[in-house]
Amino acid sequence: PNSRLPLRCWAEIDLAALERNLRLIRASLPAHMRYVAVVKADAYGHGLPQTAARLMHAGADLFAVATLAEAATVRELGPGWPVLLLSPLLPEEDRYLAEYDLTATVSSIEEVDRFEAAGRVAGRVISVHLKIDTGMGRLGVWHEQTASVYEHLARAPHLRLAGVFTHFAAPEEAAFTSEQRRRFLAALAACQGIPLDSIFVHADNSAGIETMSSATPFNAVRIGLLQFGILPHPNSLLSEVHTEPVFSFLTRVGLVKSLPAGYTISYGRTYTLGRPTRIAILCAGYGDGIPRAVSNRAQVLIRGTRCPVLGRVTMDQTIVDITDAGDVRCGDEAVIVGRQDQAEISIAEFSTWADTIPWETLCSITKRVPRVYR
Ligand code: PLP
Repeated sequence: PNSRLPLRCWAEIDLAALERNLRLIRASLPAHMRYVAVVKADAYGHGLPQTAARLMHAGADLFAVATLAEAATVRELGPGWPVLLLSPLLPEEDRYLAEYDLTATVSSIEEVDRFEAAGRVAGRVISVHLKIDTGMGRLGVWHEQTASVYEHLARAPHLRLAGVFTHFAAPEEAAFTSEQRRRFLAALAACQGIPLDSIFVHADNSAGIETMSSATPFNAVRIGLLQFGILPHPNSLLSEVHTEPVFSFLTRVGLVKSLPAGYTISYGRTYTLGRPTRIAILCAGYGDGIPRAVSNRAQVLIRGTRCPVLGRVTMDQTIVDITDAGDVRCGDEAVIVGRQDQAEISIAEFSTWADTIPWETLCSITKRVPRVYR
């Protein structure tokens, strides 16, 4: 209903960049590697239907989501496209596996029995990926008990093993990551007759790929952050895959005014002007996803100049110093994350100001913020 109204605070999503990123990542991997597109949490805030549709067009092999609602959205877009649920199911959710033709993650004998029963009741065979906990301490069967769950699963007539996987707890730590790989391979070796050649075998996410060797059974990667053009950590070898940011976060100047030195700014009076200052009031605050943690820390781009945030971020407005930004006017665009002229504020930099990680920054952009696709 509000689509006629001017934009005050919005996210721009560059779907062409997303598609180029997928193709670049794929090209950097051995040819047999399949691409699992991680699109949970509304595709990391980018908008699930639009993102998944473009990734389907670009040739993603499988989609990974967290919730049934997300899975149903992907299923509607792509009948027949494999969709893997990465989160555990509640008992009353089991029946939707058959109804929506979804792939479940299995971590225990109890889940094997539940999903087998759901398949039997529906008269359908349900696909599952067996998850092995090699050191994350979250989902998955503890690696030393893998064989017993696998054997139970192999005997379940209404289940089909479509994949095996694990998840790295600290991909930036090479030694622990290799140990997780070793545990994973040992767990698979203990599963008599597991058909590794015909199922998805995956561990690496955006950060893990760099340590991947092709002389292993791994034949798929699970990519979330990197497809959105964001490097998981600064020293990643993946910086050689030149993905581009897909997401920009923008707002506009709502008011410009001048205040004298010594004046204090915003709630709690945490900032005192050290000089006569020209300020701009931006049309965005923590109600849009600029976290209060960036108060007195973040910068935004206005007229190509970095303008510091002054005082506390408030629910709907943020105050910045535009003294050095030239002739700023009401209505001017302010870039919270993204490029303007030659300047850029990356999600990584913004996340540092917020003492958080890019994943959380993206998930914190609120519903009030329209996503604009181009
Ligand atoms: N695999 C699992 C199980 C995850 O939970 C996630 C993200 O949280 C990913 C893969 C994707 O990770 P990334 O965004 O670092 O590529």
